[in-house]
Amino acid sequence: MMHYLDAIEPDLVNVTRLFGIEDDALLAANPRFTWQAWEEAGKYRCRCVVGEKAVENAVSVPPEETDKRLQELHCKRAARRLVRQTMYDLCREVTGVHPPWGSLTGIRPTHLMQEAISRGLGEEAAKRYVVENFDVTPEKADLLWEIARVQGLLPPPEDRWMDVYIGIPFCTTRCTYCSFSSGELGKGKLVEPYLDALFREMDESCSVIADSGRKLRAVYVGGGTPTSLNEDQLRRLLDRMMLRFPGASEYTVEAGRPDTITPGKLAVIRDAGVGRISINPQTMNDETLRIIGRAHTAQQVVDGYAMAREAGMRHINMDVIAGLPGETVDDFAHTMDWALRLKPESLTVHTLAIKRATRLHFEKYRIPTGVEAAAMVDMGLATARKLGLEPYYLYRQKNMAGNLENIGYALPGHACQYNVDIMEETTHILALGAGGISKRIYEDEGHIGRAPNVANIEHYIARVDEMIARKRELFGV
Ligand code: SF4
Repeated sequence: MMHYLDAIEPDLVNVTRLFGIEDDALLAANPRFTWQAWEEAGKYRCRCVVGEKAVENAVSVPPEETDKRLQELHCKRAARRLVRQTMYDLCREVTGVHPPWGSLTGIRPTHLMQEAISRGLGEEAAKRYVVENFDVTPEKADLLWEIARVQGLLPPPEDRWMDVYIGIPFCTTRCTYCSFSSGELGKGKLVEPYLDALFREMDESCSVIADSGRKLRAVYVGGGTPTSLNEDQLRRLLDRMMLRFPGASEYTVEAGRPDTITPGKLAVIRDAGVGRISINPQTMNDETLRIIGRAHTAQQVVDGYAMAREAGMRHINMDVIAGLPGETVDDFAHTMDWALRLKPESLTVHTLAIKRATRLHFEKYRIPTGVEAAAMVDMGLATARKLGLEPYYLYRQKNMAGNLENIGYALPGHACQYNVDIMEETTHILALGAGGISKRIYEDEGHIGRAPNVANIEHYIARVDEMIARKRELFGV
C-alpha cells in the first residue's frame, strides 16, 4: 500500500492549511502531526496522531479488476483519499473548525458534483453525497448543484471542440497582487515585435484545429490587458483573429483596466464582431485601488461602463475581489452597490489569493479575516441574485482568504463557454502568445497533455517557431 502514498506530504499540508495549521506541524524534523498507514484483512488503514489525540479510519481495498492499470489507479486513489481524510478528521477534531469546502483541497469541487450526477444521483442524493463524504457545508453543496444545473444547459464538452486563447501580456502598470505573466507596457518597445511573433503563431497554428479533426468553439483574448494596445494595434490583432479563427460561437476581449478603454478601441472591438468584454473594477474604493496598484479610479470604471454601453456592447463582465487589503465588509458592500448600478451581464467574484512574495506589498495593511471574506462572498452571491445572475463556474486556488472560492455568475443564457471550458478542463485549448498553455484532453485516460509557451516576452519573440512546433506535436498533426 505504501507505494501508493509516495510524496503525499504536499497533499497533507494542503489539508492542515485548511485549518490554519502551520506547515512545520507536518514537515519539521520532529513533526507534531504524524501518520501511519497499512493494509490488514482486506482493508487499508490509517492512523493520524497529534499529542494525545488520534484518529483511525479504514476503507476496503478496491476489488480485483482485469485491467491492472485501472486497478492500480483505484487502489492509489483509495489509499491517498483515506490518508487525507484521516488527517482532515484529526484537524477538525483538534481545532473545532469546519472549513466551508470540508476536506476538498482540489481546485474544482464542481467535478465531484458532476461525478455524482453522472452516477445517476438526483438533487438530494447528490448534495448528500458531497456533504456526507467530504464534509462540505450544505450551502456550498447547494451552490455546486446549481452550477452543475447551469452547466448542464450548455453544449456538452466533446472531443470535437477546441477553444482558442490569445494572450496579450502587457499592462499599463503592474497590480501588486498580479499572478499573471504580464509585463508593464513601458514605452511599448516590445509591442510591435510581439505582435509580429503572435501573428506568425496565429497564421501557422490555426490549421491545427482542422488538421486534428476538430472545430473551433470559443475564442478568448486575455492577458495582461489587451486594451493596453493602441487602437491601430488592437484593430490589426482582431482583424487577424477573425481571419484565422472565424465562426466561433463566442468571442471575448478582456478590457480589464478601465484606464485603457477609449471610444475608438470599443468601436474596434464591436466592429470586429466581439460580443463579450470584461471591465474589471476589482473594487470601487479609490484608496484600495491605490494600495493594489491599479492606477485607475472608481470614476474611470463608471466612465468605462458608460462608454461601452454607448458603443453598443451588450455583454459586459465585471470582476471584483473579496478580501482586498485594508477593506472592510462595508467597503465591499460599496463595490456591490456599484455593481447593482452598473448592471453587468456577468459578475465574477474572486477571493483574494496572496502569494508569499506578494504578501510583502501588503504588510502595512490589514487583510480581512476568513470570516469577513466569507461575508463578502455571501454578499457577492446576494448581489448576483438581485441582478438576476446565476452561478455557472467555480474554482479555488491556493492561499485563498477563508479557504473560499472564485465564482462566475451570468444572466441566463450568458454563461461564458470559454470560462467553463478552461475551468472544468473538459475542452482542448489552443493557446497563443507568451505564457499561454495549450491543453489536449484525453478524456478516456483522465489525463491532460500540455504544451506551454514560454512566458518571457523576449524569449517568446525569439522562439515562436518552437512554440508553433510544440502545439503541432501536442495535437499530433
Ligand atoms: S491588470 Fe490583471 S494582468 Fe494586468 S497587472 Fe493587473 S492583475 Fe496583472
